[in-house]
Amino acid sequence: MKRVALLGATGSIGRQALEVIAGRDELELVAASSGSTPIDDLAPLTQVGGDLTELLEQAEPDVVLNAVVGFAGLPATFWTLERGVDLALANKESLVAGGDLATAAWGRGRGRLLPVDSEHSAAFQLLDGRAAETVDSLVLTASGGPFRGRSRAELADVTAADALEHPTWRMGQKITVDSATLMNKGLELIEAHFLFDLPYERIEVVVHPTSVVHALVRLRDGAALAHLGYPDMRVPISYALTYPERAATPIEPLHLAGGLTLEFEAPDVDAFPCLAMARTAGETGDTAPCVLNAANEVAVAAFLEGDLAFLGIADVVERTLARVECAPARDLKELAAVDAEARRIASELTRQLVH
Ligand code: NAD
Ligand code: MG
Repeated sequence: MKRVALLGATGSIGRQALEVIAGRDELELVAASSGSTPIDDLAPLTQVGGDLTELLEQAEPDVVLNAVVGFAGLPATFWTLERGVDLALANKESLVAGGDLATAAWGRGRGRLLPVDSEHSAAFQLLDGRAAETVDSLVLTASGGPFRGRSRAELADVTAADALEHPTWRMGQKITVDSATLMNKGLELIEAHFLFDLPYERIEVVVHPTSVVHALVRLRDGAALAHLGYPDMRVPISYALTYPERAATPIEPLHLAGGLTLEFEAPDVDAFPCLAMARTAGETGDTAPCVLNAANEVAVAAFLEGDLAFLGIADVVERTLARVECAPARDLKELAAVDAEARRIASELTRQLVH
């Protein structure tokens, strides 16, 4: 039996995780949390809001599935990594905002860090057991989101409702907007850098509209290995929770004989500047990715409220990065202070852009 603590149980990943857990006798849900929705009967231990590390202390889980959205997921990630408890990580913001500290905690705790993000789950499987010197680069695929093919000018008037119409994935609102700006792929670039210890110049991003290929690894002999499957988060969730067994799932196998065509193209850097901004923040290091993440969370929330234009998201992030000085953070407390400062400035800039 594996004791599972599920954080963010009411979200898109959380609900799919509940389905996976219910389908496996060897997975026992011992604790669950939500941000604000009551979840009284979901698990023996439940918590709504508050400090999630208190719930984890009580639950004594074998694996923590962190499916909280945003910076709020960091304390639970750090708690889990530090103690060497296995972490199934959907909360990519943990590695974006706190990558240096998180990997240091992971090194001390020596537990497993199993990515739930589909591209990273694929990359993990492609890289598992492979000698580092044989790997040339990692390729992350992006669907391109609902606005793929539009020019910058054509993005000026798009609304939150337009952005929430994702072509291939059904997800929470924040990540769906991140997919529309391509910031999601920028966050994933930073996530991959920390997960797989790869320098940024060896991580590529390519647009692949149907999201069937989740990632590729290019090897030094010229071979490229790809991971394929229909876009369904229950696969990476199940993989992470049942690792290393790789349990069966009810997901439909790839239908090849029906004529499967795979298309790839370069991302449009003019229309979607967030991707390059995230790459630069990642290369800058220290707290730059933390500032990028905080500004993005503020800007996306304002866009969803209808208070900020779509193109304003990249503006707010860029200007916030220019205003907040970056330095190494020594602990979560320092990181939280940088996050708060970046949010304050991003909120101020958002108000200026609106008026
Ligand atoms: P969601 O908005 O649907 O759900 C978020 C969950 O977090 C909810 O249960 C909510 O109650 C909880 N939560 C929100 N704020 C909180 C707070 N301050 N404290 C405690 N709990 C809080 O989001 P989602 O789409 O399920 O995404 C969750 C994470 O997984 C994100 O980091 C996202 O980037 C990542 N992810 C999601 C998908 C997907 O398909 N949805 C795919 C890959 C990665
Ligand atoms: Mg992803």
